[in-house]
Amino acid sequence: MKRISLFGATGTIGDNALDLMARHQGRFSLFAASAEANAEKLADIARRFNPSLLVIGDEKGRIALSAALPDFKGDILVGEQGLLQMAEQDVALNIMAIVGFAGLAPSLACAARGGALALANKEALVAAGAHLMTLAAANKTQILPVDSEHNAVFQLLQGQGGAAQPDNITLTASGGPFREFTRAAMQKVTPEQAVAHPNWSMGAKISVDSATMMNKGLELIEAHHLFAIAPDKLDAIIHPQSIVHGLVHFADGSVLAQKGSPDMRVPLAYCMAYPDRIDAGVAPLDLTAQGRLDFAAIDRAQFPCLALAEAAMRAGGAAPARLNAANEAAVAAFLENRIGFLQIAETVDAVLQKQGCNDSGDIEAVRAIDSEARAQAKAHFDTL
Ligand code: NAD
Ligand code: MG
Repeated sequence: MKRISLFGATGTIGDNALDLMARHQGRFSLFAASAEANAEKLADIARRFNPSLLVIGDEKGRIALSAALPDFKGDILVGEQGLLQMAEQDVALNIMAIVGFAGLAPSLACAARGGALALANKEALVAAGAHLMTLAAANKTQILPVDSEHNAVFQLLQGQGGAAQPDNITLTASGGPFREFTRAAMQKVTPEQAVAHPNWSMGAKISVDSATMMNKGLELIEAHHLFAIAPDKLDAIIHPQSIVHGLVHFADGSVLAQKGSPDMRVPLAYCMAYPDRIDAGVAPLDLTAQGRLDFAAIDRAQFPCLALAEAAMRAGGAAPARLNAANEAAVAAFLENRIGFLQIAETVDAVLQKQGCNDSGDIEAVRAIDSEARAQAKAHFDTL
């Protein structure tokens, strides 16, 4: 029985991980689960999976959770301290499905503990990738990438050690809901249109990131850290069907590609059962029914967020953390109808052009960079 702690249990990735646990009850048990605010949903998860530990965002949530679970015998902890305590528990696998920079501190705590960490949260790798990977290596923590493109590359690199290092890595992008929109048409898009992704069902923040293609930029930075590959050996291309998720190019001209239906249970099942394979509840992929797979270059003028992320990746230092913070602030403002869709990229660009504090590599420095860049993004909204 593999004991699992699920950070961000009430989100989309959380739903998929719990679906796999329910399908394989003899294989997995839920030891701990966290949520920021949705006490009702977390209580429902506790009733179904009977964990020993729950963590919720604040005291108000704790009171609601306790009231919803009068017979719960385990512990209920609160806030970031609670998440850090959850990361210290003795489990076989931590799944990090918290969205945004809030996932960084618990990811670092999991990386410091050893064992295995299935990482869905990409913002931690963007904001502090070198730090997180070094900490994981020093403590022999195995990082299993949940993000579908990185999971694809991770699978493709199995058994390819030594002199068989990849020459290049390509990540695919569906292109999101606005793939065929002009900039003029994007000017008027609403949050509702932006969160309606054509191929994947995801949380609001990553859905907006997919629509701006910032998601692919964050994923290039994520790949740079996960696979220790130089920025100029990484690329992203459009593949509207989302069947091929990642490609690895070798010196001899061989290119390996991983395929699967666009369902997060596929990469999650690989991480959860690793190195075994389990039934993910996904219908077999029928390539003849699929018929065709298309690929195209990404137009950086149409999707400037991708170019901004690539520039931040090349610049290194504090730039990726600043990019991530400005983007989180801008996406939140867009979802609240305070700024327009095109102003997300404008805000990130404006923040990256400002001066900021340097990255000295520790968590406090990264927090300071994050807060400063968020404040700069908010100051930029006032000029709009
Ligand atoms: P979501 O918004 O559906 O769920 C987020 C979860 O994090 C919830 O359980 C929420 O309670 C928790 N959370 C939110 N803010 C928090 C905070 N401040 N502190 C602690 N917990 C907090 O998001 P999602 O779509 O499940 O994505 C989760 C992560 O996985 C993101 O980083 C995303 O980029 C990544 N990811 C998601 C997908 C996908 O298909 N959904 C694919 C690849 C990667
Ligand atoms: Mg992805």
